[in-house]
Amino acid sequence: MSSETQDRTRIQREMGQQDMDHDPKKAAEAVKRQALALGADTVGIGNIERWSNAPTQMDPKQIMPECKSVVAMAFRVMRGSMRGIEEGTFFSNYSAMGYGGLTYLYMPMTVINLCKYIEDRGYEAVPMGHQSDWRSIDAFYTEYGGRLKRNWSRPVAPGRAAPDVMIHLRIAGYLCGLGEIGYSRMLLTPEFGPRNRVGIIMTDVELEPDPIYDGPQLCNKCMACVRDCPTGAISSTSSVTVNLAGNDVELANIDCEACNNGFRGAEKVDEEVPEDEQYWTRNTRAGWWSPFFKKPPQLYKTGQAVGGSRGCTRGCMIQLEKRGVLRNQFKQEFRRRPEWKVDWSTEPQYPPDVHMPDERVIGDGEESETTDTD
Ligand code: SF4
Repeated sequence: MSSETQDRTRIQREMGQQDMDHDPKKAAEAVKRQALALGADTVGIGNIERWSNAPTQMDPKQIMPECKSVVAMAFRVMRGSMRGIEEGTFFSNYSAMGYGGLTYLYMPMTVINLCKYIEDRGYEAVPMGHQSDWRSIDAFYTEYGGRLKRNWSRPVAPGRAAPDVMIHLRIAGYLCGLGEIGYSRMLLTPEFGPRNRVGIIMTDVELEPDPIYDGPQLCNKCMACVRDCPTGAISSTSSVTVNLAGNDVELANIDCEACNNGFRGAEKVDEEVPEDEQYWTRNTRAGWWSPFFKKPPQLYKTGQAVGGSRGCTRGCMIQLEKRGVLRNQFKQEFRRRPEWKVDWSTEPQYPPDVHMPDERVIGDGEESETTDTD
């Protein structure tokens, strides 16, 4: 087949369009329309100058020195994905269809496809979501600084950051105008409050930036996040103020170890727990906010999130919805029954039609000898 015939018959992706070259406003509109069409719930743009005082380990210019713009997209964690945890009967869905599914499946597809849209027009686009897992950053850091793990990596040249640089995604959301950073450190958007996951793109195309969010006040320091966190990980009295593009933002100091235990449903105790009673680690038991005998395994890396973000997300969302400040409104209130608590000092009471055959060991991954009828 001659190359002329090939050109006529092959259906190809269009490349080389020049429609982003001369007008940052039109280019920004096109990128934002595309982001929404690809599945983002909200999108905003920040110019790179807003990161001028970013710590080196969190500076987009360390990844892409020619970066001119950052595009941030928020993806809603569906309120329905929290319903099963709120009712105490279905926990894995929050990971599978909410937090984890968004983070590891849905959001990367949108971010990657938007990058392709930009690269088809001759500009480079770096996709970034939560997939890097903060693997280079000490999980127990408490301040906006990105403390590199000890003995993890070294700079490739003097003055360069050590790999891997991690852009703070919630702060990127703020700097791109998506919303506020709440006292709990969650990104609060006017659409969904704290129910968001964020993905970003760094690019060398100049895009007209959106203003930093200046709409109706979202975080009013109600401290519901502090009160509702089962492990008291969020301090009501100790905070740090960071300057983001000229704006002072107050963030609670977080006890990351307490958070780490709490979201898995683990209650830390002072004594060492006998092995067959350990929930997760040697000094943890199941807390009143977990109905599981052992910490469930991971699902999309987050299936263990049995706490369902009690304070930082659910507590915050409930009060923001009550105040009527969110755009995503519902016909019914989220909390419709009294909050449940597991009393581990009592024997469980199963419904009469729940069978626990002796030969089946729940959770061991082995096939049962009995046959399920479902
Ligand atoms: S619960 Fe209240 S104090 Fe905490 S982040 Fe939400 S609005 Fe701010």
